[in-house]
Amino acid sequence: MSHDHSRFDSETWTVPGPDHEFQFPEFMPGLVWLVGAGPGDPGLVTVHALNALRQADIVVHDALVNSQILGWCKPGARIVYSGKRGGKPSPQQTDISQQLIAFSRQERRVVRLKGGDPFVFGRGAEEVLALLEAGVPVRATAGVTAGIAGLASVGIPVTWRETNQTVTFLTGHDQSGSEPQSINWKGIAAGSQVIVLYMAMKNLDTICQRLVAAGRSPDEAVAIVTNATLPQETALETTLQNAAADAARYRLVAPAIICVGPNVSLHRRIGMLTHSSASRHGGPAPSLTTSIWLGG
Ligand code: SAH
Repeated sequence: MSHDHSRFDSETWTVPGPDHEFQFPEFMPGLVWLVGAGPGDPGLVTVHALNALRQADIVVHDALVNSQILGWCKPGARIVYSGKRGGKPSPQQTDISQQLIAFSRQERRVVRLKGGDPFVFGRGAEEVLALLEAGVPVRATAGVTAGIAGLASVGIPVTWRETNQTVTFLTGHDQSGSEPQSINWKGIAAGSQVIVLYMAMKNLDTICQRLVAAGRSPDEAVAIVTNATLPQETALETTLQNAAADAARYRLVAPAIICVGPNVSLHRRIGMLTHSSASRHGGPAPSLTTSIWLGG
């Protein structure tokens, strides 16, 4: 039997023996380890994050962290919540950094756990810089970001050779909560085939209008995925001109990842999806994913 080894070389694989065993990094007391919790599904937590959580004395976590993941902490570990709650303003960034510095000085092993990837619209860098300035040892490990995993979860690849060679990640609001002023909409509309939006539900109408004004077609496909990778995940396909109205009609709320671009339609081919609007609107309970695919 002949194999095309340029395409598929599984025959050459060997199982790593004891010499190749992966050494988990040691978690020294006093270290603050910044790790991502992924988008929600506990299976999307990295092995580094799991290792860190299992050893941590203190875990300081944000709002968008699935509490199931905290169940992996060792007994007696202290869990500190540092996100928004009940509409109250979030703690000041400096307060969180000061708290992390104080825990480090008590010689604790501190995990700073943030949703998704800590360095993607997550203010991870601000915290690392504050810690380093205070002389605190820090380690930062990437996580699985919602903008990629949330799309994959509903059968939308963030890139596909036939549709896009570029992708832009964009935040739907700036520090003041309004639509970011610094964005070059014309540049993005012309230069990026696929646009992935975080935190964009509040300003969705304005953002879609900006993209159309900057040259994108009002009929261009848009996917909105809320609670991606979680049992209550919901996905909707719409268009730039209808996105805001459809989001309101189906009462879609944050957290949501929004994707604009030709790759959206691939969910029909890749789709491990429940193509059912009935389940969310009075029909039988959804099995795992409830999708309201209006497009096509
Ligand atoms: N650092 C995170 C993003 C933090 S900003 C990451 O890398 O994923 C918070 C935004 O992330 C939310 O407003 C939403 O746009 C997105 N988000 C996070 N978790 C999500 C989820 N499970 N489903 C959909 N969107 C999610």
